[in-house]
Amino acid sequence: LELALAGVQQLVPYVPGKPVDELQRELGLTEIVKLASNENPLGTGAKVAAAIQATLPELTRYPDGSGFALKAALSGKLGVAPEQITLGNGSSEILELVMRTFVSPEHEVVFSQHAFALYPILTQAVGARARKVPAKNFGHDLAAMRAAVNENTRVVFIANPNNPTGTLLAREDVEQFVASLPTHVLCVLDEAYYEFVDPAVRTESLQWPERYPNLIIARTFSKAYGLAGLRIGYGISSIEVADLLNRVRQPFNSNMLALAAAEAALGDVDYLAQTIAVNNVGMQQLTTAFKELGLEWIPSSGNFVSVDVGQNALPLYEALLQKGVIVRPVANYEMPNHLRVSIGTERENQIFIQALIEVLRGV
Ligand code: PMP
Repeated sequence: LELALAGVQQLVPYVPGKPVDELQRELGLTEIVKLASNENPLGTGAKVAAAIQATLPELTRYPDGSGFALKAALSGKLGVAPEQITLGNGSSEILELVMRTFVSPEHEVVFSQHAFALYPILTQAVGARARKVPAKNFGHDLAAMRAAVNENTRVVFIANPNNPTGTLLAREDVEQFVASLPTHVLCVLDEAYYEFVDPAVRTESLQWPERYPNLIIARTFSKAYGLAGLRIGYGISSIEVADLLNRVRQPFNSNMLALAAAEAALGDVDYLAQTIAVNNVGMQQLTTAFKELGLEWIPSSGNFVSVDVGQNALPLYEALLQKGVIVRPVANYEMPNHLRVSIGTERENQIFIQALIEVLRGV
């Protein structure tokens, strides 16, 4: 133990959602509803399945370590140069690459209270000092975050929308914040849930890295594109920053199936549209139920919503598990009375709502 870096010794590991098959074994139930990891409820799309099928005979080969085809497809769709793109084993790896490339133990890393759990973990893993800034209405307090930046700050994480709160920052506020940062600070704008945000209010940030060379935008195929199990995400940055990240990344960090599937998913506009439609309907369904139950929730721009159950949420989480429904307690985010629920299909949402009603009644 003492051989590990000081930060690593104190690390509290990331706790993923409880796996479906584990609960199935424990309870002997045939149907488990998992609304715990902000996954896409639609299942694998036909175009992605076909792309994976077509790639299977190639698996004895290494993947294209440069990700040429996927970068070209992303470049065409997003209007950025392929050289600005870094591909990662999930967007988690993009966040990690930023830390490994730029942050050492003398640095500080700024992020918000209630922000995505990986930020403190990555900070501790590289032995840097975390500056957690108190949230405002569960969202990021950008003025306070800016005030927390000092000469030792190297990275600031902004999650927009944030997980687990679903809170969204206004475009002007984010841009003003990024523009205000000194040149020794990198800003990671984590947009894992970008596609779910109402186009009328979402932050179109992809052209910003040309103006702000210290900005890195992280996006993922795990959520709206439905590829969480394949692990593929990407960073958009200035060419200079992308060049550095690509030097540090492992040569074959994005696997062949993931590269092929992501390219197919990008082209499947119907799947994406259906995902957004199902999410919008499901969000309405859940929040209507919360309202009827007299529960408050945090208005969310993502594919999940955190609801205040008015009491310690852990016993309710456990009671829901006994009914075969997996949601996410967020006590580790300093939100002990909230449960985070991912938006499922209409049927999954209904099963969750029914189970919630029962556990609130104590039956
Ligand atoms: N950022 C945020 C805010 C997230 O919620 C998640 C997933 N929970 C990620 C990044 C990482 O997702 P992935 O590695 O699957 O791209």
